[in-house]
Amino acid sequence: MKRGTITVLGSATSMGIPTIGCECATCLSTDPKDRRSRPSVMLNWANRCIVIDTGPDFRQQALREHVRHLDAVLYTHAHADHILGLDDLRPLTYDRSNSGTRLPLYARANTARHLRNVFQYVFDESYKYGGTAKVTLNEIDGPFDLLDLRVVPVPILHGDAEIYGYRIGRFAYLTDFSTIPEASLPLLAGVEVVFLDALRHTFHPTHSTVANSLQVAARIGARQTFFTHIGHDLPHAATNRSLPLGVELAWDGLRLDVELED
Ligand SMILES: [Zn+2]
Ligand SMILES: [Zn+2]
Ligand SMILES: [Zn+2]
Repeated sequence: MKRGTITVLGSATSMGIPTIGCECATCLSTDPKDRRSRPSVMLNWANRCIVIDTGPDFRQQALREHVRHLDAVLYTHAHADHILGLDDLRPLTYDRSNSGTRLPLYARANTARHLRNVFQYVFDESYKYGGTAKVTLNEIDGPFDLLDLRVVPVPILHGDAEIYGYRIGRFAYLTDFSTIPEASLPLLAGVEVVFLDALRHTFHPTHSTVANSLQVAARIGARQTFFTHIGHDLPHAATNRSLPLGVELAWDGLRLDVELED
């Protein structure tokens, strides 16, 4: 069986923890696991490396994890906390310039449209000022082959907006959802390791709460569930003590082995 390693690049909600100007206990905490950068994960296998989302902290995350080569980026949706690091893909595309190849990005159509708007100069063939990331943007609307992996987009609801989570083998990454549609649950059958959005305890119109994500976790039934996109209402150690066996908060730098085939 084909195995790989997931590394959590970032586990924070959109503003990052500590949050600018905030003096709450989590933002002032000295526990390194309470320092959370914007949400993203990296998957490594057989000298291959892909990331899901490139947020505003991508540069620091890539330096921290000594990323030297990237084979692809999957985007979940086009909110700032998931895309603003796209420009920092530049040094990871230089090795391709010589061979004339480009780093492939994958996104659903509406996300791709936003990426082309926000990063117009990157996708504008007539841009003459150089220094842009050498990337290609591939629109996806269902399962596809990426290198030797099968990638299954999982439609999830982020408030009213449908965005993508991703399943690869027995691993799934579902960030920024308020609801998992019933029709998407079969796509998650047999998943062993799952990441779920869990912003805080109190209701939010576009994100899941701890209580809701515990219900989702029970329905998916993965061996290990990690909560991500975590707000400052959830201090790492105290929150983990309140969670059932098999469910815990993710943290920046967390690494785990995953099975990449069904
Ligand atoms: Zn987000
Ligand atoms: Zn705070
Ligand atoms: Zn979002």
